[in-house]
Amino acid sequence: LMHLTKKLIEIRSMLLSIDQSDALKLPSIVVIGSQSSGKSSVLEAIVGHEFLPKGNNMVTRRPIELTLIHTPPSPGKEAVEYGEFPALGLGKITDFSHIQQTLTDLNLAVPSSDAVSNDPIDLRIYSPYVPDLTLIDLPGYVQIASMDQPETLKEKIATLCDKYIREPNIILAVCAADVDLANSPALRASRKVDPLGLRTIGVITKMDLVPPDHGASILAGNRYPLHLGYVGVVAKASGKHPKRDSTAVVAQRGENDFFGAHKDYFGSSSSLMVGTDTLRRRLMEVLESSMASSLHGITNAVQLELEEATYQFKVQYNDRSISAESYVAETVDALKARFKEFTAQFRKPQVRAKLKGMLDEKVMDVLEQLYWLDKRVPELGAIAEDPKIKPEDVEPFWRHKLEAASSLLTKSGVGRDSTLLVADGLRALIDSIATGEPFTYHPRAAERLIQFSHMILRDRIGVASDQVENCIKPYKYEIEVDEREWEAGRARAVDLFEKEVAMCETKLRDIRKKVGGSRRLSGLMSYVKSLEEKEREKKQRRLTVDTTDDEEDSATESYRYPPAQILDARHAMLYGDRLNILKLRLAALKSKRCRAGPENDVLCPEAFLNVVADKLAYTSAMFINIELLDQFFYQFPREIDSRLLYDLDRNEIVEFARENPAVRSHLDLQGRKEKLEEVMKQLNSLSTLRSDAQPTPRRQ
Ligand code: GDP
Repeated sequence: LMHLTKKLIEIRSMLLSIDQSDALKLPSIVVIGSQSSGKSSVLEAIVGHEFLPKGNNMVTRRPIELTLIHTPPSPGKEAVEYGEFPALGLGKITDFSHIQQTLTDLNLAVPSSDAVSNDPIDLRIYSPYVPDLTLIDLPGYVQIASMDQPETLKEKIATLCDKYIREPNIILAVCAADVDLANSPALRASRKVDPLGLRTIGVITKMDLVPPDHGASILAGNRYPLHLGYVGVVAKASGKHPKRDSTAVVAQRGENDFFGAHKDYFGSSSSLMVGTDTLRRRLMEVLESSMASSLHGITNAVQLELEEATYQFKVQYNDRSISAESYVAETVDALKARFKEFTAQFRKPQVRAKLKGMLDEKVMDVLEQLYWLDKRVPELGAIAEDPKIKPEDVEPFWRHKLEAASSLLTKSGVGRDSTLLVADGLRALIDSIATGEPFTYHPRAAERLIQFSHMILRDRIGVASDQVENCIKPYKYEIEVDEREWEAGRARAVDLFEKEVAMCETKLRDIRKKVGGSRRLSGLMSYVKSLEEKEREKKQRRLTVDTTDDEEDSATESYRYPPAQILDARHAMLYGDRLNILKLRLAALKSKRCRAGPENDVLCPEAFLNVVADKLAYTSAMFINIELLDQFFYQFPREIDSRLLYDLDRNEIVEFARENPAVRSHLDLQGRKEKLEEVMKQLNSLSTLRSDAQPTPRRQ
């Protein structure tokens, strides 16, 4: 039947890992007693080792869930005894002073302002000398609150103890023989929850400190009867000898000597229970019978919980099992698929269009700089309209201007700008993936995703932009344009200009509306013109080169119009000027001369520059594709594999999966169901085992 306790202790720890609800609890032995009652000495006597924290004021601050596991001794080999803290992952600890140190550290880690913590320490001890038992060591009841302990300490400890001494636990009430039982806080606490003493064992320590007849009368238990009786011990640990063959044996010998010397009181004829061995045996019996009688109830409770979990699993997840690993794998697959989908935005035509857009803006800038601000530009339109002037008759001035414009465009850093433009696009793409589901739940993974993708880009950008710059180099010296290219460039330039015209008109309309109509705007504009006139005169008079900016003017301007409207008028004038020139150039672009062909490039710089921009975009796109995109698209999925998730260990994988609340709930319920199934299996195997054995009809 010993087998039963061992099994049930295993089941008990499984149940504890499922949840802490009272319904799913198998009994354990809870050790309570006042400070210095000899509680630690008793526990150490049972274990056979000194392992509990000692020292001044070293009160147990956290409950210790002490599980003793009897390991059958292997014949011919030295007995292996060791402890384990499953929650700490320190492995097997064979040095019991190390266990003592660890417990001390864990206790000291509780902030002294809290004094005690409800969070139990899980300690398992494996030894051929221990029985299968679970014991819970609780902070000792404090009699007098000392100066450095908070007022509420006494209360806190009492509350903690109350929580543990509830059913179905067995109470081990430790009392010192030399203290009147009437004053024992342990017995008092037990009486409150177990008035008939049905699940309380009394342990009377320090039997050696009272006359044997007195000791014997305490053990007889007539004054405070306990159904499970009293066991008397002499559990004084002598000195600091953590090895079994010293402390324990010495203590045991002392105890045997003492009870042996008083056989007349404590001999086998007395029917009193004395000695640590007896205590051990008694605890085993009591725990076992208590566990046995809990078996039926716990089996029912587990059955109910299992049915509920099974039902919920079916309803919520349609019985679909997942694992942290499968979630990680799915996440990676989805990430790669999404990435692939997004890369469609980066095919060559798309990239070319993007680059063309950027270059179109550059063309406009160049045109503004070299042509629109030049007062002679209307002449260019006039030449275009005049069929008598042959291309070779056009002033070299215009030829130089066109070459300057073309050079400005080709030498504007196209390699760098176009590479950065595409890189920015890629960065935005990754950012949008990283900020979308499911990465909203995985901020650290998202961070890493962004980091390594930016790193790949950083590595490539330099090379790619140099390559692009190199490949467009020929255009810096010579650009050949054929008829077809010319016509396409001209048409695109017309298109762009028409858009620009429409944009300027919209802006003008908006301003007109804003200032309150066209008459008001004309008024404003002529006022601004007169101001500018005055300003010019003033400047000439003073011969200063200082520029006076709008802000300073506003003081005088504000006499008639609010400064914001003055600014609007200035903008309106700029747009008006821009419109005039655009319309002029549009007419030129649509003229016969411009239509005729590339030999008129000087007269239609817009068409020519558009062709240049197109060639630049085409070449850039081609090399960005090779040097940046292909590399990135190749490397990114591989980096996902090596850096994002696959280098996680088992714990990190679980941690990652659990960041997603939906997955966490799923895993939790699934885990609960699986554990309950396992417990149920174990319980069922026990009941077959028990049907052969005698029932223990102590409690129902
Ligand atoms: P705890 O505070 O309840 O854990 O008590 P300890 O186990 O630390 O014991 C308090 C003191 O009583 C220590 O100095 C022990 O050596 C001593 N002590 C414990 N058991 C006995 C015993 O059976 N006989 C004698 N003489 N002293 C004991």
